Amino acid sequence: MSASPDRKTAIITGSNSGIGLAIAHAIATAGHNVVINSFTDREEDHALAQTIARKHGVNVIYIQADMAKADQCRALIDKSVAALGSADILVNNAGIQHVAPIEDFPPEQWDRIIAINLTSAFHTIAAAIPHMKKAGWGRIINIASAHGLVASPYKSAYVAAKHGIVGLTRTTALELAQHQITANAICPGYVLTPLVEAQIPDQMKAYNMDRETVIHDVMLEKQPTKQFVTAGQIGALAAFLITDAAAQINGAALPVDGGWTAE
Ligand code: NAD
Repeated sequence: MSASPDRKTAIITGSNSGIGLAIAHAIATAGHNVVINSFTDREEDHALAQTIARKHGVNVIYIQADMAKADQCRALIDKSVAALGSADILVNNAGIQHVAPIEDFPPEQWDRIIAINLTSAFHTIAAAIPHMKKAGWGRIINIASAHGLVASPYKSAYVAAKHGIVGLTRTTALELAQHQITANAICPGYVLTPLVEAQIPDQMKAYNMDRETVIHDVMLEKQPTKQFVTAGQIGALAAFLITDAAAQINGAALPVDGGWTAE
C-alpha cells in the first residue's frame, strides 16, 4: 500500500521552457500540484503557471530562483513547501550548455555549467529530503543526458556535469532506498528545445558546417532513429516514474535517445 497522498507537490527546476515545461504539463495532467521555476520573474512566468493550472485543474505556482546560487536552490524548496504544503516530487531539470574546445573553454562558463547543471541538484535534493522523509514518500528525477553516459567533443563542462549528476542520482538512491524515496536520472538524446537551437551556431563554428549539416551529420548522426526525441516523451517518462508502478526503479540512468548509447 502506498503512503503517498493522492495529490502531490512537484517542484521542477528550469520549467518555463522546453523539457521542464513538458514535464510540468505531464505531472499536472496526472493531477498533481506543480511549482514552475526559472531565474526570471516576468509576468509571463506567472501567467504560464496560471495557464497550466487552469488547463489541468491543479494548483500551479511560479517561484523565481537562480539555480546558480546555493541559497536560492534551497529557498526554492522551502518556498514551495510554504506555498503548497509538501515537496513530494523533485525534478532537477535546469540546465545550460556551452560548446568550445577545452583549451578555449571560458573558465566562467565551466563554473556556471557545473553550478546550474550539477551543484543545484545537490542543494535541492538536500533541502527536499527531510520533507520527503517526513511524508514517508518521495520521487527525485534528475534530467541528465545521453552525455551523462557518453561524451562528445567540445562539451567538456556539460559532459562532466551530466556524468556527475548520474553519480549523484545513484548515491541518492542508495541513501534513501528504505524510505520509499526513489532517485532516477533520465538521459535524453537530442530534443529540439531552445537549448539545442542555441548551440547550433556554436556547433556550426566548431565543425565549420552549415545548420542543416550540423543537425543531420552531428546531432542526429548520434541517434540511430534519425529523429529528435520530443519533450513530451521525456514528460511521459517522468510521469511514469512518479507512479507506484515505478517504485522499484531506483538509481537508474534511463536513456531516451533513439538508441544513441546502445552503440
Ligand atoms: P531549455 O533552454 O528549453 O530549458 C532550460 C531551462 O532551464 C529553462 O527553463 C531556463 O529558464 C532554465 N534555467 C537556465 N538557467 C537557469 C538558472 N540559473 N536558474 C533556474 N533556471 C534556469 O533547455 P532544455 O533542452 O529543455 O533543457 C532542459 C534540461 O534537459 C537541461 O538540463 C538539459 O541539459 C537537458 N537535456 C536537454 C537535451 C536536449 O537535446 N534539449 C538533451 C539532453 C538533456
